[in-house]
Amino acid sequence: MSPPLRPIDAKTGMPYAHRVTWVGGEGSRAWRIHDLASEAIAEGQDVIDLTIGDPDFDTPTAIVDAAVTSMRAGRTHYTDMAGIPPLREAIAERQQRLTGQVVDPDDVVVVPGAQCGLFSTLQCLAGPGDEVVMLEPTYATYEALVGASGARAVNVPLSPERGFHIDPADLAAAITPRTRAILMNFPHNPTGVMITKDELAAIAEVCHQRDIWLVSDEVYGSLTYGERHHSPATTPGLEDRTVVVDSLSKSHAMTGWRLGWAIGQGELASHLYNLLLCQLYGCPPFIQDAAVIALSREYEEIDVMRAEFAARRTLVAERVNDMPLAACLPPEGGMFLMIDIRATGLGSVDFAFRLFEAEGLALMPGVGFGPSGEGHLRLSLSSPRAVLEDACARLARFLGTL
Ligand code: PMP
Repeated sequence: MSPPLRPIDAKTGMPYAHRVTWVGGEGSRAWRIHDLASEAIAEGQDVIDLTIGDPDFDTPTAIVDAAVTSMRAGRTHYTDMAGIPPLREAIAERQQRLTGQVVDPDDVVVVPGAQCGLFSTLQCLAGPGDEVVMLEPTYATYEALVGASGARAVNVPLSPERGFHIDPADLAAAITPRTRAILMNFPHNPTGVMITKDELAAIAEVCHQRDIWLVSDEVYGSLTYGERHHSPATTPGLEDRTVVVDSLSKSHAMTGWRLGWAIGQGELASHLYNLLLCQLYGCPPFIQDAAVIALSREYEEIDVMRAEFAARRTLVAERVNDMPLAACLPPEGGMFLMIDIRATGLGSVDFAFRLFEAEGLALMPGVGFGPSGEGHLRLSLSSPRAVLEDACARLARFLGTL
């Protein structure tokens, strides 16, 4: 068989590695809504953009001060490749406090954000010829994350009929001898659903039988509205094969700091170390110092942020459930809410474009997260309540015209 044709640069005629096609993708029409909204806002138009989720809160002042103090103290040089020991210890302690998982700091690897943690982990676990199972609708970057490893992504649907929960039969059917890992995120982006103990038991069974890793993205783990998040790493059968990936982005309103971690098992930390050595060469020490301060105590600002997200979630869920032709399941965690518009008979992309044109409200079409998201729109709660009230009024007005 002849090797596949390499992608060629349209301007220079130079060839690229095949890998560039694994991460690129077409970019679906669904995401165009976010671009349109950003352009309209830049032009000063009266547009509300609720497509993406970045906490609209400042990082607590004490954490910012810690970074400044650290920089002034000269902590601006290379440092430990896998993370400074006090931070690895603080992460291990936090994980134990939040989830009960006993973590050895040597198994913690500090990375610039959960995104990098997921990328690096998949590079260590899967490659060409392998398969990685994902739950769909899925967080938008997962397909490219799996693609970048060279593996093939296999979707397990989370259907709205099951309240976006896993059907164990679908999970079992997706597993093949090539499956290397299951990649999932709970509390779930985009649906706001939390994983149940029964679902974890079903996952544990397949992972245990087939020596499959579980890569558990827990970036919304501390933002829950009722029950606490159950970390898969403490589920019987998953303790020695779960990689927990988390960050300070959402928990501490620190998305721009790029500070996250992966908690591995066995030799994974040393493989991650080698990968990060050739890719990254360590995270900035002043950011790691600030992260130690972030994890060392509770912050009133963070409690206020959590309470505010809870209030927003209740507000929007109540408003939406009062609207004709729309409904929603209030999210159990995370900063998004899925609005069910199946009763309108419109597809989610069509609905989103028409809503944007009519009312200047940008919501993300659910199909952009996978086929099971069709008939839904994802609304981000990361805007003040007054903006969300206005958005709900616009949505209700639009629904009234259908
Ligand atoms: N996982 C999920 C599910 C997310 O929603 C996000 C951010 N939107 C990330 C990972 C990336 O987080 P980080 O900023 O820590 O890289």
